[in-house]
Amino acid sequence: MVSEAPAWAVYAKPSVTLLTLAVLWTWESIHPLVTRGDGRLVHAGRNVAVSLLNTVVLAVTFSAVTVGVAQLAEVRQWGLLNWGNVATPLRFGLAILLLDFWMYLWHRLNHGIPLLWRSHRMHHADLAMDVTSATRFHLLEQLASAALRLGVILLLGIAMLELLIYETLVVAITMFHHANISLGPLDRPLRWLIVTPRFHQIHHSRIRVETNSNYSVLFSWWDRIFGTHQMRGEDKPVDYGLDQFDQPQWRTLWGMLRMPLEKLEREEMEHGEHGKTR
Ligand SMILES: [Zn+2]
Ligand SMILES: [Zn+2]
Repeated sequence: MVSEAPAWAVYAKPSVTLLTLAVLWTWESIHPLVTRGDGRLVHAGRNVAVSLLNTVVLAVTFSAVTVGVAQLAEVRQWGLLNWGNVATPLRFGLAILLLDFWMYLWHRLNHGIPLLWRSHRMHHADLAMDVTSATRFHLLEQLASAALRLGVILLLGIAMLELLIYETLVVAITMFHHANISLGPLDRPLRWLIVTPRFHQIHHSRIRVETNSNYSVLFSWWDRIFGTHQMRGEDKPVDYGLDQFDQPQWRTLWGMLRMPLEKLEREEMEHGEHGKTR
């Protein structure tokens, strides 16, 4: 029998998205890490517009097929998690861990493969990082991610409920670690477990050795395990962005959308992870 995801799980992601956005936006307004002048609303508007476009296109193209593939895996008992009778709580924990490991790998591939980097660099070209930066991903990257995830669901045997819960956790943690806030001394112990604002700020640095580090999405330990972890002094501010996309023309909605078409710089093509050094 095919199990349907309960209604609360379907509504969890949009509800958590709006609630987390409201809480973090308020926190950033009252006590920002970096004080910004004008343009906060325009910056947010562009990032949210990109996100709305992604949401609509993904809903039309991948929503039904993702549910269908998860049900197929369940009915046919395909995938790693369907081998043996794993108890539900353990199965759930494993599903979250495996999905998160896949996201670490996928993020790393986005830095290592020039074709994928063309789209992913839009996320990194953001000159000011805040909660809305968490939604700033190019549609091409999102489509590629959704397509590959179908294979991951089949391979791992992920159930729809597990996927919905993982996605809800990701949206909350991603907004949290992009927020223009400081956790002060709490950041250090917390980042042993999850990706914190300080941990992810390093990933948005324009210094390439830092850009090519800290790929984890939910749990931070993947970077420690695979040697891609990078930190620096707590107080040193991070200069966000990419040198190639600093001009104002890249800050418009149109500029953001056409970023994948811009040719790669020589060093982006010559070195894996778009240039190990700088
Ligand atoms: Zn990245
Ligand atoms: Zn980011």
